[in-house]
Amino acid sequence: MNGYFGEILNNSGHSAELRQHVSGVIEVCHGMDELGLPVVPYLAAWKSNRKRIWYEYSSPRLAALLDCPQEDVARCMRERVIDRREFRYVDSVDACIEEQVITRKELREGRLDLRNIGVRKGGVEAIYKLGGEPDSIWLKDQAVIRFFEVDDIFLSAGCLTDVTKEMEQKELLERIGYYDELTCLPRRSIMNRLLEINIAQYCRGHLEDFCFILMDIDHFKRINDTYGHPAGDYVLATMAGIMNSAKRKEDELGRYGGEEFFALCQGGISTGLEFTERLRSMINDHDFVWRDARLEVRFSAGVAAASELPELSAEAIIQLADRRLYVAKENGRNRSVGA
Ligand code: GH3
Ligand code: MG
Ligand code: MG
Repeated sequence: MNGYFGEILNNSGHSAELRQHVSGVIEVCHGMDELGLPVVPYLAAWKSNRKRIWYEYSSPRLAALLDCPQEDVARCMRERVIDRREFRYVDSVDACIEEQVITRKELREGRLDLRNIGVRKGGVEAIYKLGGEPDSIWLKDQAVIRFFEVDDIFLSAGCLTDVTKEMEQKELLERIGYYDELTCLPRRSIMNRLLEINIAQYCRGHLEDFCFILMDIDHFKRINDTYGHPAGDYVLATMAGIMNSAKRKEDELGRYGGEEFFALCQGGISTGLEFTERLRSMINDHDFVWRDARLEVRFSAGVAAASELPELSAEAIIQLADRRLYVAKENGRNRSVGA
C-alpha cells in the first residue's frame, strides 16, 4: 500500500480478520484526509504486554503538525507529550466532567496503565499538550479501542483535533486565577472587574438596569460540623453547578467567598428577585445526598438594583445587597429580600 508505514499488513502471520479490519480503517482514514476534514485520523496499535505503540495509519497532517517525517510520528508523539488531560464523565455529583491532569513524568512511568484504562472503558477521550519550538500545541484525542485476541493486538482508531486556541485560553484563565478551584466559578477579584464593567455600561446608558445579588447558605456551619468539611465542599460545588447551569448567558455568577455567592443579573429589581427566587427553588428542590444522608440546603439572598442608588458605585451596590441579605437572615432565612 502506498505510503504505508505500519506492520500488520506486511506480516502474513496475522489473522485475516485483523488484516481486513486494518485495511478497512486505513481506507476510511485516507478518505477523511482526502476530504480535508478538520480532524487528524489515525490508527494506532500495540501488543497487550508491550509498551511500544505504533501507527498503522497516521494522517500526513499529524506529521506536518509535529514537523517530523511520517514514519517518525509515534516517536515524536512520545517525546513531545508534556501533559495529558483525560476527561471522563463522573456520575457521582450529577453529570459533571472531571479533568485529570497527568504530567510527563507520570506519563513515562504509567504509559501502559493509561492505555489499560482506555481498554477497560472501550475508548479514549483525552487532550495532549505537545511541547516544542516555537509553540506548544494541544491535541484532543477521541478514539475507540478494539482487541484482537488471536493476534494479541489492540487497535485504537481515532481522530485528533487541534484545540490549541481553546486550551491556551483556558490556561490563561487558570494562570490569572480567574476561577475558584472548588466551585469552578469566577472569584471575587473577577467580580469587582465585572461589576465595574456593568456600572460603566449602565452609566453610559448601554444597560437599562442591572442587579447585584449576594447569596449566603443558611446554617452552613452545621453541615460542616455534622458531616465534615468534605460534605460542605460537596454542597458548595454542587450548588455552584446547579446555579451556573440555570443562569442566562448574559448574567454572571461567582463565589464571593466562603459559603457566599454573588450574581450580576441584567434587568431591574423585579427581574433580580425572580432570578434569585428561581435559583432558590432549584436548590430547595435538589436532593443533596452525602454518604446516604440527605442534606437540607437553603440560602438567603439580598438583591440590589443599580437604578435604586442615586450615586452608583461598586461599594454602594454591594453594601445595599449585603444589608438586604442581613434582613433576609433576620426575617427567618430561606428567602430573598429586594427592598
Ligand atoms: P448563617 O445562616 O447565619 O449564614 O449561618 P452559617 O453557619 O452559614 O454562617 P457562618 O458564617 O457561621 O459559617 C460559615 C461556615 O462556612 C464557616 C466556615 O467554616 C464554612 N466555610 C467557609 N468556606 C468553606 C469551604 O470552602 N468549604 C467548607 N466545607 N466550609 C467552608
Ligand atoms: Mg456567610
Ligand atoms: Mg451562611
